[in-house]
Amino acid sequence: MNNNDPTIVITNDDGIYAEGLNYLFKAASNLGNVVIVAPASEQSAVGHAITIYDPIRAHEISRGGAFYGYGVTGTPADAVKIAIHKLLPRPPDLVISGINDGANLGINVLYSGTVSAATEAAILGVSGMAVSFNQKRKPRFDWAVPHVERIGRWILRKSLPKGVAISVNIPALPPEQVKGYRLTRQSIRTMRETFEQREDPRGGRYYWLKGEASPSDSAHDIDVAAIDEGYVSITPLHFDLTAHSEFSKVRQRMEDL
Ligand code: MN
Repeated sequence: MNNNDPTIVITNDDGIYAEGLNYLFKAASNLGNVVIVAPASEQSAVGHAITIYDPIRAHEISRGGAFYGYGVTGTPADAVKIAIHKLLPRPPDLVISGINDGANLGINVLYSGTVSAATEAAILGVSGMAVSFNQKRKPRFDWAVPHVERIGRWILRKSLPKGVAISVNIPALPPEQVKGYRLTRQSIRTMRETFEQREDPRGGRYYWLKGEASPSDSAHDIDVAAIDEGYVSITPLHFDLTAHSEFSKVRQRMEDL
C-alpha cells in the first residue's frame, strides 16, 4: 500500500460487526487503502434516512487490539456523509456497501440501507457500489469476494458515469458456477405482504410484517432473472427519481389541471 493507491470507504447496513463487512474488507483490501465507516448497529431497511434530530458520533472501534474502523451512530447514508465530509482528508475513489445478508431486488432497492449508502456516494460525487448476496441462511460470503474485487477494480479503472451508482446482486453459487455478469434493469417486483398479529404478555396487540416476493415479469434483463439464471446482476441506479419516460403522459393530463 502507498499513497498512490486508491482509497476505498466500505460501509453496510447490517452494522460494523456484521460478517459480510469482514468479507467486503478482504475484497477491498486488494484494491487499495480501506477505511471502514459503518453504522454502529443494525440498520437494515432504513432506506435513505438521515439523522438530523440527534447527534452523530463516530466511535473508533478496535478489533484484536488494533483500530478497525468507525462505528457511526446513524444510518448508512449518515455514515457515507460523515466519511466524506469529516473523517477522510480527501474524497475516496470508491464507496462499497455490503456485503448485505440477502439480495436487494426490485422495489427492495427503495427500502435498502445497503443500496442507499451507494446512492449517497453518487450524490456526493463519488463512485458507489452496493453489494448484496442472495442467501439468507448461513451465507457463503466467501463466494462473493472474487466478484466484489473484480467489479471494484473495473469501476476504479473505468469509473461510473456521473451520478450513477451500481447495485450488484450475487447469486448463492460458488464462483466457478457463476455464468457471468449481466447488466440489468431494476424489476418492479413487489412483495406479497401480510402482517402477523400477535399479543404481548400484557394482552396488547402488535404486528410483524412478513413478505414474500411475488412473481415478476419474465423479461431477461431484469435483476431477478439474472440471479435466477446464475448471473451476477449489475443494475445502474440514479438518485434522480423523475419518471422521465412518463413525462409526456403526465403533461397531457395536466391540460385540465
Ligand atoms: Mn441488511
